Amino acid sequence: MDARVKPAHDTVETVTLVPIEKTALERYVAPDRPSLVGLSRAALADALGTVGVAERERKMRVQQLWNWIYLRGATSFDVMSSVSKELRAALDERFTLARPEVVVEQVSVDGTRKWLLRLPGEVPGERPHEVECVYIPDGERGTLCVSSQVGCTLNCSFCHTGTQRLVRNLIPGEIVGQVMVARDRLNDWVETTHKGEHKRQVTNIVMMGMGEPLYNPDNVRDALLIVADGEGIGISKRRITLSTSGVVPEIERAGSEIGCMLAVSLHAVRDELRNELVPLNRKYPIAQVLDACRNYPGASNSKRITFEYVMLKGVNDSIEDAKALVRLLKGIPAKINLIPFNPWPGSKYECSDWDQIEKFSEIVFNAGYASPVRTPRGRDILAACGQLKSTTEKLSARERLALRAMAMTDE
Ligand code: SF4
Repeated sequence: MDARVKPAHDTVETVTLVPIEKTALERYVAPDRPSLVGLSRAALADALGTVGVAERERKMRVQQLWNWIYLRGATSFDVMSSVSKELRAALDERFTLARPEVVVEQVSVDGTRKWLLRLPGEVPGERPHEVECVYIPDGERGTLCVSSQVGCTLNCSFCHTGTQRLVRNLIPGEIVGQVMVARDRLNDWVETTHKGEHKRQVTNIVMMGMGEPLYNPDNVRDALLIVADGEGIGISKRRITLSTSGVVPEIERAGSEIGCMLAVSLHAVRDELRNELVPLNRKYPIAQVLDACRNYPGASNSKRITFEYVMLKGVNDSIEDAKALVRLLKGIPAKINLIPFNPWPGSKYECSDWDQIEKFSEIVFNAGYASPVRTPRGRDILAACGQLKSTTEKLSARERLALRAMAMTDE
């Protein structure tokens, strides 16, 4: 099937800003009352040990907590009716179930939502950090674009965020927490979906938000294994895509330890150009990245690797580039996401003309690759983004997210 679509018109639509009841950030950061969100079963068992639960009981209690936290989305211990009152009180004294704090929520008329989330500083007293998380509904599918770091070090020249310094890696609770916040805001926990009030809203996860996930591999792995756990959040690994700029030594490990889908920010077919667009290419050139893809555990025709390719006018969008792309990917079970560039103030690039994108896409398609061109979504909330973030540095994040949000998976 030809999955190609026309780009959306440039109209700016109406924005709904939803008021958010503030949760106390202190509850999330208080070192004496850490959140249980993001803990694995083993870590939950340890947490139970600290409130005096005997070892022989822990497995059963962990199962109860797991169910309440990750399947039902409990936000307080009070609601855990299957847990004894005494244990609930003991847990409440030591722990919370807090997620990252939602500072602002923006809702687009096309259903796209964006949340600005506040995370604690690394050390007590440090200024809180902020990341964005974007939800893009599309028919039966709802994709959540999740961040892995605050800031990024990789300086991709088409990405405004690349100019931001890396602040810190997110911990598992902050990565899982983004998914839980989305489920909270969309009323997407099991009670609602099982009652048939509405279908599952968050069906797909893409690690394509702020940061390079394979520069934070352990925390991303731990978080995604929780997200994929069938007794909890339960998003299948086939519906979770990790997007990397090509951190070659970590690619195989991501496949074997997480087993999710892989996407690679390719964007160029020659090392000389990719060195400029994705400077990490100087360390891990195209041939090495593609070799790692060929060896990606589980890659097959039904589990294809996505190659993201941002369309830059006169830079990487020639017919020759398209032919070279097809040659380069020969033998790799691949699909190619063509992403119309979303220009930002001061950027030296322009988006390719639509005609050129179509010609490029045609060549890729005729070579047997699905080559969807993603329709920009949520343009209205991007336009109003200044209400979310005011500094230039922060504005840049929204541009990058806009770009990334267009590169969604097909599953
Ligand atoms: S595209 Fe991704 S890896 Fe490159 S600078 Fe932007 S956030 Fe970092």
